[in-house]
Amino acid sequence: MIKKLLSDIVSDPSCIDDYDPNSMPVDKARAFIRQFLSPVSEVENLSLRDTLGRVLACDILSPCNVPNHNNSAMDGYAYNIESLQIEGKTSLKIIGTAFAGKVFNENVKAGECLRIMTGAVIPTGANTVIMQERVIVEDNFITLNEIQKSGANVRYAGEDLALNQVVLVAGHLMRPADLGLIASLGIGELNVFRKLKVAFFSTGDELTQIGQPLASGQIYDSNRYTIYGMLSRLSVEIIDMGVVRDDPALLENALLAAANQADVILTTGGVSVGEADYMKDLLAKHGQVLFWKIAMKPGRPLAFGKVNNSALTSTNNNTAHYFGLPGNPVSTMVTFYQFVRSAMLILMGQANPKPLPMLNAVCTGNIKKMTGRTEFQRGLLYLAEDGLWKVKPTDNQSSGVLRSMSEANCFIVLDDTVGNVAAGTTVQVQILEGIV
Ligand code: AMP
Ligand code: MG
Repeated sequence: MIKKLLSDIVSDPSCIDDYDPNSMPVDKARAFIRQFLSPVSEVENLSLRDTLGRVLACDILSPCNVPNHNNSAMDGYAYNIESLQIEGKTSLKIIGTAFAGKVFNENVKAGECLRIMTGAVIPTGANTVIMQERVIVEDNFITLNEIQKSGANVRYAGEDLALNQVVLVAGHLMRPADLGLIASLGIGELNVFRKLKVAFFSTGDELTQIGQPLASGQIYDSNRYTIYGMLSRLSVEIIDMGVVRDDPALLENALLAAANQADVILTTGGVSVGEADYMKDLLAKHGQVLFWKIAMKPGRPLAFGKVNNSALTSTNNNTAHYFGLPGNPVSTMVTFYQFVRSAMLILMGQANPKPLPMLNAVCTGNIKKMTGRTEFQRGLLYLAEDGLWKVKPTDNQSSGVLRSMSEANCFIVLDDTVGNVAAGTTVQVQILEGIV
């Protein structure tokens, strides 16, 4: 893809060959979005626990070996296997006991062994540990019931992490195991990128906030709740700006307020053909935004671009990233997962966020589908009695039926080359359960 300025594409879409905003393939839209992302760069120093879900701002080098001494992997007896072979003895005298945290300071000589607990330091002279279940103890002697290899059941210093090794690299998203890994080095604070600030609002004259009675023709605003939930899974600062009516002055106020305090603005509704005019005009006035019809179902309309931050406040740049998501509740969620989530991870400072995992499963139902667009059907992935992973499409695939998302644990991803799918066909599924 040729690198162009966002403003060039907005003012003259034909400046890029093969660019059709009315039929934008999913992958191409992702690639476009990616080239216009400016990740946060400010760094803060946080105590280790607070870094969970945050992105490292610098590489972490190991200041020590982990473990920092050779130690026993078993409860058993430590001895020197070479002297055993030379002497030809299988019976060894027990000279004492080493416990984890209590070093035994004597040398273990030929013909001797040390009773040793898991995690205790291997004494000088010894190089191998035999499990206590593999010996016969009589008086103060053991007889070995097993021929071992030198070094058996010994955990070596630096085996987990070696001194000066790169432990985690800048751009790494901190997970529970990483907290423990860093703690094992004795490090209590880390430099991470500051939280991404994300402001969002729902647009639509028909929307009522929960807690208010529903007037005729009104529906409750559900998108702000799914967006809140999806954002909460990422460690971002959430700024919920409520419902904004389809009124140009109110929309303009909300847009500017969002741009002045957030790195990212998400809106739902009001970007589809016919009603896009307010948002389109406002976004042209205050930023550079591309409007696409994505070749996908559900979730066709999508707007992406930048909105100017007139106040130049605490955000990273003088523009906020803008994502205008379609209003249909399922489309909102699908476009969030397919475009916004990975963009958000990049903006948080992650170098190469991994896409949601895909795997193959046998589809249990027939699916009617046209080629030329990617579909994200909602499905229930399960382990069938015959041992195969199968996926059942949810019964109602309408983009307005949020129940289909609630029942689903995956998307059935059917790319643009795929047509109708017969039951029994292997399809690709993108797992949501436990991940998002
Ligand atoms: P729009 O994208 O504004 O044309 O909206 C498409 C459909 O989604 C319409 O049926 C809207 O009523 C519905 N919709 C828009 N926003 C929301 C929302 N926040 N919560 C629930 N439904 C919505
Ligand atoms: Mg609307």
